[in-house]
Amino acid sequence: MSEADTALPALHDASLLRVDALLGGEWVSGPSRFAVHNPATGTHLADVTSGDADQARLMVEAAERALPSWRSRSARERGLLLSRWAQLLRQNADDLAQLMTAEQGKPLAEARGEVSYAASFLEWYAEEGKRVYGETIPSSDGNKRQWVWRQPVGVCAAITPWNFPLAMITRKVAPALAAGCTVMVKPAEQTPLTALACAELALRAGLPAGVLAVLPANADDSIAVGQVWCAHPGVRHLSFTGSTEVGRILMAQCAPTLKRLSMELGGHAPFIVFDDADLDSAVEGAVQAKYRNSGQTCISANRLLVQAGIHDAFVERLAERVAALHLGPGTQAGVQVGPVIDASALAKVKAHVDDALALGATARVGGQVRGDLGPTFFEPTLLVGVTPKMRCAVEETFGPVAPVLRFDTEAQALALANASEYGLAAYFYSRDIGRVIRLAEALEYGMVGVNTGLISSAELPFGGVKQSGFGREGGHHGLEEYLDTKLVCVGDVNA
Ligand code: ADP
Repeated sequence: MSEADTALPALHDASLLRVDALLGGEWVSGPSRFAVHNPATGTHLADVTSGDADQARLMVEAAERALPSWRSRSARERGLLLSRWAQLLRQNADDLAQLMTAEQGKPLAEARGEVSYAASFLEWYAEEGKRVYGETIPSSDGNKRQWVWRQPVGVCAAITPWNFPLAMITRKVAPALAAGCTVMVKPAEQTPLTALACAELALRAGLPAGVLAVLPANADDSIAVGQVWCAHPGVRHLSFTGSTEVGRILMAQCAPTLKRLSMELGGHAPFIVFDDADLDSAVEGAVQAKYRNSGQTCISANRLLVQAGIHDAFVERLAERVAALHLGPGTQAGVQVGPVIDASALAKVKAHVDDALALGATARVGGQVRGDLGPTFFEPTLLVGVTPKMRCAVEETFGPVAPVLRFDTEAQALALANASEYGLAAYFYSRDIGRVIRLAEALEYGMVGVNTGLISSAELPFGGVKQSGFGREGGHHGLEEYLDTKLVCVGDVNA
């Protein structure tokens, strides 16, 4: 492996490499540091400040101080700052992508795509913030006037994951800031460098001190930071993206202070292909919905349910596509699938595949760890002959493994699809208009993709039901999360 693959990337703008916390508009170091590694090589990238409980508390105080003047700015003024920030993200896309690929592993082309996706939330909410309308409600009493106003919730906290190190931040921060809230972010311990570079650009865009704070932390300190923010009465909203297990812990911690919550948790997306599907389109959709980001997205297709009549043709065509996917370090030209995030992620992917093979499935493509490429590479894999008893058919794999289950009838497909504790995204392919409507209605999921494997963008509500959480990000729905409703009822109007 060449030196270029192992070192921190050379940035056009070296000052985007930040390793301290952004607190009250200043870069502040904490009592300890933690190491960030490149998952493709295992190489050390940087030592980053690990925020502790004291810094978490100071951050809340700074966010409280910054709130009155931020809240009282016009939506237009706030929008201009968000737009400028988006522009800086786009202008620095190469550097941001390099940092993201170095610490997260995704191919550079995907990382660049994420920068654009992240900027799109800032751009969208820069405009949507201007449309926070109230209501006038006619009174049954002629002596009264009644209005409903929408006001910012206040100080918000966001805890974000490593799979989209930039977009999961802007998807929360953009609506919060547009609504007039101040916001503190704790990025995932695996990917703080992208978050801190993003914060540096926010400062350059002119965001006032304390309006945005970013507190990196190692795994243990993350727990302490979470405890402070959840328990603090001054924090009025917590937005979390991550595992269902941690979501439950945070929700319990927020109960005593009755915070508003947005929870975007785990998923186990079914991807259903009916006999009447367009085969090419279904294969293409499956590749996008499964192998993007090495299968590490909460809306990744986790199980492909394929009707008997199209099963063999679909598997044949998909196998060709999967076998041709180029696995390797994200910095290498032409690579389409990178490593998984760390050793425990790799162990889980391998355990799911081993379990399926032991219970009678077959690896039509892949199935192996690729230690020769680096510490956490797993081959893009296609498993056939999968049954609902296998772990990969029930648990979130979060890796480049597509398990195929065969079904006969629409009723069977629906029952299999809904037999999950999760309810985030579901996909299906069919050209029968009646079935499209029937199934879209009956799937117990927050998002349904019909004849497409790509369903998220800034203007759409992203979120789940059941154990996948609640609240929505994106669209005007995402802004609602950061607004309180106030009734103003005026009596004695008539002279
Ligand atoms: P994953 O399994 O995908 O890493 P997690 O739910 O463990 O997802 O982590 C998502 C985010 O939640 C990360 O920023 C992580 O540091 C943070 N986190 C994990 N556990 C806690 C906790 N107990 N309190 C606060 N934050 C936490």
